[in-house]
Amino acid sequence: IITPVPVPTAFDGTEQCMLMTFHDLTPLRRVEEMRADFVANASHELRTPLAALSGFIDTLQGPARDDAKARERFLGIMQTQARRMARLIDDLLSLSRVELSAHVRPDALVDIVPLIRQVIEGLEPLAKERQVAIETELTVETAVIAGDREELLRLFENLIENALKYGASGGRVCVSLAQAASGDGVLEYRFMVRDFGPGIAPEHLPRLTERFYRVDVGDSRSQGGTGLGLSLVKHIVNRHRGRLLIESVLNKGATFTACFPPGKP
Ligand code: ADP
Repeated sequence: IITPVPVPTAFDGTEQCMLMTFHDLTPLRRVEEMRADFVANASHELRTPLAALSGFIDTLQGPARDDAKARERFLGIMQTQARRMARLIDDLLSLSRVELSAHVRPDALVDIVPLIRQVIEGLEPLAKERQVAIETELTVETAVIAGDREELLRLFENLIENALKYGASGGRVCVSLAQAASGDGVLEYRFMVRDFGPGIAPEHLPRLTERFYRVDVGDSRSQGGTGLGLSLVKHIVNRHRGRLLIESVLNKGATFTACFPPGKP
């Protein structure tokens, strides 16, 4: 905001004017705070598995040195923690890559039908482990959008994997793809993942796509989660000119819908 403030005429008769400039620093401060929070969160999340690894190394070098059974068990836990760190670093790198290229629209024409099928196939072992049936309803034979193949694979994988992890074990998960008209009548592709698990309380819904936001940290950790998945999904959807809708009724399940405009050849 620039406000010219007139001041009285000087002694020698010349007109004088003083300019006062005010800058609203609130948005900049907010970005700085978010960045600092992000670094603190990332460091904390990396430190946790690192501390566990370091502790187990000490134990293996000391008290458990000659205990073959304990050694076997501890090495298993160390492997899990190392994988957790690797996943976290992977997710952090993917997120920063997507954020850095947020202003560049991916323009390759990609048919998402085979991508969705490929992701479902890759997640069958997890579905089996969780005793969940994946019901697929792809009502279009092809669905070509302007996109980035790897990012779209990541998006489909994150949403279906979440439904398998957080939906009811022993239940079912519905994955669908359809073409429908958006609010303003424009045709779009709607990819939908629905589960019938515990769902998400309304107060958590607006914050779900924030980096590191988790409804239940313990549950997310035990499922191998990093709290970055939905943030990544949101960024990928935005980069593809899409929309992400999250709906849930507590104890009835959750529905995640990603809508994309069709690609123009
Ligand atoms: P995470 O790596 O922890 O899975 P996400 O960003 O993918 O992180 O998800 C954030 C949180 O949202 C999860 O920790 C979980 O608490 C909640 N969540 C995600 N999907 C579902 C779902 N289908 N049902 C219930 N809760 C969910």
